[in-house]
Amino acid sequence: MKKLTLSVLLCFATHAVAEGLPDLGDISQSVLSPLQERQIGQQSMMQIRASRMFLDDPEVNDYLNQIGDRLVASSNEPALNFEFFAVDDESVNAFAIPGGFIGVNIGLLLTTQSESELASVLAHEIAHVTQHHYARLLSATQNDGLTSMAAIAVAILAARNSPQASQAAIMGAQARSVQKQLDFTRLHEQEADRIGLESLQKSSFNTHAMPEFLQRLQRATRLLEGNAPNYMRTHPITSERVADIENRVSKQPYRLIADSLDFQLIRTKLIAHQKSTADAISYFEHALTDKKFGNPVAQRYGLVLSLLRANDATRAQQEMDTLRAQAQGNALLDTLTGQVIAAQKNDQATLNYYKTAVLNHPQYRALIYDYAQLLIRTGQSALASHLLNDRISRYPADVTLYNLQAHAYQQLNKPLEQHQAQAYSYAWQGNIHAAIEQLELAKQAGGSFYQMSTIESDLRELRDMVDTRSKK
Ligand SMILES: [Zn+2]
Repeated sequence: MKKLTLSVLLCFATHAVAEGLPDLGDISQSVLSPLQERQIGQQSMMQIRASRMFLDDPEVNDYLNQIGDRLVASSNEPALNFEFFAVDDESVNAFAIPGGFIGVNIGLLLTTQSESELASVLAHEIAHVTQHHYARLLSATQNDGLTSMAAIAVAILAARNSPQASQAAIMGAQARSVQKQLDFTRLHEQEADRIGLESLQKSSFNTHAMPEFLQRLQRATRLLEGNAPNYMRTHPITSERVADIENRVSKQPYRLIADSLDFQLIRTKLIAHQKSTADAISYFEHALTDKKFGNPVAQRYGLVLSLLRANDATRAQQEMDTLRAQAQGNALLDTLTGQVIAAQKNDQATLNYYKTAVLNHPQYRALIYDYAQLLIRTGQSALASHLLNDRISRYPADVTLYNLQAHAYQQLNKPLEQHQAQAYSYAWQGNIHAAIEQLELAKQAGGSFYQMSTIESDLRELRDMVDTRSKK
């Protein structure tokens, strides 16, 4: 497990910023252009993906992207690229990294009481990005070299969620002074609220959810006696701020919008993730017998999930049968059904199930991973590599897809393709040296003129990265 280190980020950021500052006349843009923001964001995402803070669950991340994309589509910059991801941290926080990368802590996801509340937080973060608040914050600080400023900014943003110890290691005195300047001001917050509110309304969420969620956080803070959630520190919530949103929202009709089943299932999945297997089973059993709270479909989904984790294939199958009589056609449910069938250890039955399931959810990654794994295990790697290639063109930064592809090519005895896929997997995890090693192996294996020139050009690009890093 790699740690997020300042030195690595510093070098990345140097690389990103050193490429010449375009003079656009605008103060905020001349400090950090949108392209530079994107580069800094991409490089720090590589580090985050490889760190413990990244929740490596495609279902949770796909869900966040689905809600996020809906909001971006009705924002003032619908063409901007965004990536939303979950952070494995119980504290209540959400944050934006320059370039359109938005992290949401598990703690925040579980604090929201409706899908519209979650959307209101995402809409607010999206607005920080579309309004280029980080670039503007950086332009306001002129006391230090721009390059190190940008680098430290990224390190701090990425480190906000890591435990105190590693955070202290990452941040020196200089970094701490910059952090103060990076916390959003009241004006930034107000702008992000107003713009976020507009996209919330345009994408048909309940706008009243925004002040409701902020008030819930305020109440929670009072109970915690000043021990404010991180979110309140990075996005100060004042009574003035809440009053401003309430005033705007009061002119809009209260739209009661039902939460999607996905929202319920994702929350259930995260509750299960936080508990031990035995605790999770008894929690969902009680929830189902008490019938007091929550959605019974989601609760049974949580029970099946936990039974599978406990290797109780028989009970998982029984509960799944009940569940499927209540709800169908949902990708999360269909993915879990595949896992329940697979647990019965009948490969042919499982293969038959997946054949139909991928037709119903052709781009659902969690399902694709499971199906591809089974194909490889049952000696059908040609089919697996075909399936994976299709999805890689859609998700070019998906490390799991590359790892599976490398396995499939290994089985097909195609060493060039195998090492190339492994190289992309390492590169997207930020492990550039290992990626270069794999590309060298791919080169030795030999291939067509086209394949060899692709490898040469990838090698050049990766070596450039290493050079820039070592020069600092
Ligand atoms: Zn904010």
